[in-house]
Amino acid sequence: MSIFLHDTLRRKKVAFEPLVPGEVTMYLCGPTVYNYAHIGNARPAVVFDLLARLLRRSYELTFARNITDVEDKINKAALEAGVPIATITDRFTKIYNDDMAALGVLPPDIEPHATEHIGQMIAMIEVLIEKGFAYEADGHVLFDVESNPRYGELSKRDVREMIAGARVEVAPYKKAAHDFVLWKPSTPELPGWDSPWGRGRPGWHIECSAMAEAHLGRTIDIHAGGQDLVFPHHENELAQSTCAHDGEPFARYWLHNGFLSMDNTKMSKSLGNVLLVHELVKDTPGEVIRLALLGAHYRQPLDWTDATLDNSRRKLDRLYGALRGVDIDAATRRSAEPPAAVLEALQDDLNTPKALAEMFELAKALNKAGDAAARRQSAAALQAAGDLVGLLKQDPENWFAGAAEGELDAAAIQKLVHQREAARAARDFAAADAIRDRLAAAGIAIEDGASGTRWRRVG
Ligand code: AMP
Ligand code: ZN
Repeated sequence: MSIFLHDTLRRKKVAFEPLVPGEVTMYLCGPTVYNYAHIGNARPAVVFDLLARLLRRSYELTFARNITDVEDKINKAALEAGVPIATITDRFTKIYNDDMAALGVLPPDIEPHATEHIGQMIAMIEVLIEKGFAYEADGHVLFDVESNPRYGELSKRDVREMIAGARVEVAPYKKAAHDFVLWKPSTPELPGWDSPWGRGRPGWHIECSAMAEAHLGRTIDIHAGGQDLVFPHHENELAQSTCAHDGEPFARYWLHNGFLSMDNTKMSKSLGNVLLVHELVKDTPGEVIRLALLGAHYRQPLDWTDATLDNSRRKLDRLYGALRGVDIDAATRRSAEPPAAVLEALQDDLNTPKALAEMFELAKALNKAGDAAARRQSAAALQAAGDLVGLLKQDPENWFAGAAEGELDAAAIQKLVHQREAARAARDFAAADAIRDRLAAAGIAIEDGASGTRWRRVG
């Protein structure tokens, strides 16, 4: 079955077909590394990690996620701290990758750094000037938006309206207000590279056009990022790349994730409602955060509330609870495939709410199955689904043992559960009930089932 993806350019869901049969190239705009990633920044990383995992089942994927390590916000942070930009960018690149790894995000195949591609950016800018799509003015090089009749195609903006409505102050060196910077001059205290236009630095948009070409070629299959990148970032990347490449298509499919808000408010530093992944992962299992991020369809807005993580933890308890005590032999585990319904949901434009619902159905069926072989098969299928979506990586017992300090630890709980079973076997129901009450008081629920008594934390 083919994969269907919603393409921003065509504004509809279409069957995915890579340029080269069997091979896929994907580029995701990565972080600007000058501070910690917030939970909204983690959404594209997690969502497109899942897409990468899905694509790898059927194609040979080359996935690039860049690091923007030269940009004015970085320069500002470095100047304020009195350190070279690399001190800031090295530190936050590592933190970003560690934080994403905690959310089960696998490393991309290629992680190009902008500062390592300045030569390619300069070369692309030279081509754009030569072909009449860019001009030099006052140490700057600007993209001449009016030279490209297709500008506005991706974000569905009309350039003429943009010109008429432009309230932005026209910089004296610009022909038109919406012309955007490809290269700008650097003062001595700012990072800079020698170029035909003097010492300077690239604009943000040209970084991605040059890195995508350098690693994935002129036409890439999938270009992804958050919705806010459609305009101007991706519109400008598209203009640069197609104009430099004589109209050759730049990206065959454009994918954009919806925004994450907090209590229905935009996540923003000035409002003080920013949740940093780095803080969250200190006391929340990464899978709880990952499941929360995958709980909504990636193109829909996702509102994060106080209840989000609790709900997500309870859902994982259900999945791990079903796997608990099922002895899956290595061969069954290895040969297991995710259920067809899970795959179909994901192949339908990454319908994660549906895929997760199918996993809960399977967990329910597993709980009910009496036959040991059937339980093993279902559990292995559930784990295979977990592998695909990047969840259920822990041993179920360890999952339930992940107790906060002061709570009963797994060994103590298990001991009480055994004592209760012994009491029940001896028909001492008062003692058994007393133990159940004691566990309940400690936030532990127990369930007696076909395969014995299981326990779980209930918040
Ligand atoms: P930045 O480092 O600001 O360039 O952002 C990195 C990625 O996070 C980009 O793909 C953004 O589109 C995305 N992003 C930023 N804020 C949010 C948010 N609140 N919800 C979803 N995605 C976001
Ligand atoms: Zn980009």
